[in-house]
Amino acid sequence: MKRLFAAVFLFFFASLLPSAQAAGSGQRGDTFFPDFTLHKLESGSGPTLLVVGGIQGDEPGGFSAASLLATHYTIKKGNVWVVPNLNFLSIIRSSRGVYGDMNRKFAYISPQDPQFEAVRNIQNIILDPKVDLVLNLHDGSGFYRPKWENDRFNPKRWGQCIVIDQERVDDEVAQNPRFQDLQGMAGRVLDRVNVRLLRYAHVYHIKNTTTRNFDLEMEKTLSYFAVCAGKAAFGLETSKELPAESRVYYHSCLLEAFMREMGIEFERKFHLSPAGVALALNKDISIRLYNKRTVLKLDNARVTTRGFIPVRQGPDLAPEPSNPLLTVLTGDGQWRVIYGNRTLTRFTPEYMPFDESVQTVNLLVDDRAFSVNIGDMVRVNSHFMVRDENSLRVNAIGAKKEVNGSEADVRLERADFAPSFSLDQGGNVFRVEFYREKAFCGMILVNFGPENADSGNLPKTLLTAGHADDKNGLGR
Ligand SMILES: [Zn+2]
Repeated sequence: MKRLFAAVFLFFFASLLPSAQAAGSGQRGDTFFPDFTLHKLESGSGPTLLVVGGIQGDEPGGFSAASLLATHYTIKKGNVWVVPNLNFLSIIRSSRGVYGDMNRKFAYISPQDPQFEAVRNIQNIILDPKVDLVLNLHDGSGFYRPKWENDRFNPKRWGQCIVIDQERVDDEVAQNPRFQDLQGMAGRVLDRVNVRLLRYAHVYHIKNTTTRNFDLEMEKTLSYFAVCAGKAAFGLETSKELPAESRVYYHSCLLEAFMREMGIEFERKFHLSPAGVALALNKDISIRLYNKRTVLKLDNARVTTRGFIPVRQGPDLAPEPSNPLLTVLTGDGQWRVIYGNRTLTRFTPEYMPFDESVQTVNLLVDDRAFSVNIGDMVRVNSHFMVRDENSLRVNAIGAKKEVNGSEADVRLERADFAPSFSLDQGGNVFRVEFYREKAFCGMILVNFGPENADSGNLPKTLLTAGHADDKNGLGR
């Protein structure tokens, strides 16, 4: 006997991101250049850890791990501030640095440099009296070893190490004596991480660049800037030879070990393994624009979204991404939704006036009545109908069942939709848009898919993984 579930699920897109503030560079011309964001996960008391990802745009292990920290951890004691996307434009372009190496601009930066404002902003965050310890996340070449073994495993390589500039933060400047002993802390973190290796070759070491004495290049870095300001600071490196999800795994192990070292208590919302991080980074991806009136669900998204997407004139998209590595690149004919260095979908914008007066719409979903917020997604088992109560014109994108130009009070089922109009490649998720005269009032999404369909089609690697044979040894 077939059991019938009156299963209707309403999805209120999880507001995964803690309070984010934009702090980077901003708008130039008509192209939107995304700012970096600062996410504060605070319990109120205890020490504060600042984690920076994406200072170099071609190191996805670091920026993906920082992003995961911002979205998939709850802090129970202490505070964690995360900047997952410091050099966002370079992340998008998968370049070490579109405007040169940002991690060489911390000793001096020209006021004419396009990154001047962003560098000053992150410097001010580092200098915030609350910040006790700074971690800068990287993916480095090869595997660091204290003694020469071969071309890939040697002292000049950067992969799989914790980088310190000196053994201790100087007494004269130290802001918090509890976190002065860089060598000691790094050693205890090593002990925690080296019992979680996927392979023994990935073993972690401490690399002391003894920056003050020998290293003119390292004097220009973010971590040396922090150490000179009396803050504990470390560079965390994974190897570019590893798949991206393994890099995120190691970075997450390192981040957790540092949090434990600092007495920061946390809860993690995913399984800590390469497969677990891949799932966490690729599931429930969405972006909502214009105060949730335009919404795109992006799990398994089509390369090109069919039909026009309503947008408003002007630069302010009011984006609410489910993840800080998501953004929309505007411009001419086609807009792109970007996640890290991948384009998830392209769409053609249609400029129109917006009517923001409608907050909810009434639906019958599988014969049950629901009030649905604009911007939310509804799971539909068999059929649905938008009630004609707000005198709105209803346009179910991909369906052709209008009566007098509207699909209000029309029963719609999956077979009424042309599959190619779905947002997802599975042909499950469709847009239903609402209009009052010529103005766009917002949209909802209807999902005909099974409950766990979203996670079915994970890419093998989550992000383009950089260059495994990076021989230039550029370092952090
Ligand atoms: Zn780096």
